[in-house]
Amino acid sequence: MSLDGTYDEANIFAKILRGEVPAAKVFEDEHVFSFMDAFPQSKGHTLVIPKHSRARNYLEEEPQILAPLMLGVQRVARAIRTALKPDGLMISQFNGAPAGQTVFHLHVHIIPRWDGVALGRHGGGMADVNELKALASRIAANIA
Ligand code: 5GP
Repeated sequence: MSLDGTYDEANIFAKILRGEVPAAKVFEDEHVFSFMDAFPQSKGHTLVIPKHSRARNYLEEEPQILAPLMLGVQRVARAIRTALKPDGLMISQFNGAPAGQTVFHLHVHIIPRWDGVALGRHGGGMADVNELKALASRIAANIA
């Protein structure tokens, strides 16, 4: 999928938001929903998505939705820092399949990094659901 196209209501993140597909929830407010990436590139790889949006990517999003989204990203990133004590944090976001995007509901990745630990493959193996839930609880406990 290129940058152009129409929003697909059946995308996996829309299903997560509607409660049709389970997710290891980290945080939710009126604007954003945050949950563990099921195919993590590092321990604690977390996603933040806008709840009331039909934007496929960053370019399509309304400013009034983008602002609380990025504030939510900072809030969750700070909680990840406190909970998991990473040496660094990648915050990334892909637009269009050639850029690496695979799910077409706007989302931001927060990927904790540790010295000497290589980044896992994008679209790699699926994590254990109970491990994801445990990580989500640890991060959620540190949301300020
Ligand atoms: P993108 O490639 O579009 O930037 O990121 C989509 C992300 O969603 C990927 O990192 C992928 O691992 C994650 N993902 C795909 N399917 C699911 C799912 O069913 N549940 C969760 N929690 N994450 C998913």
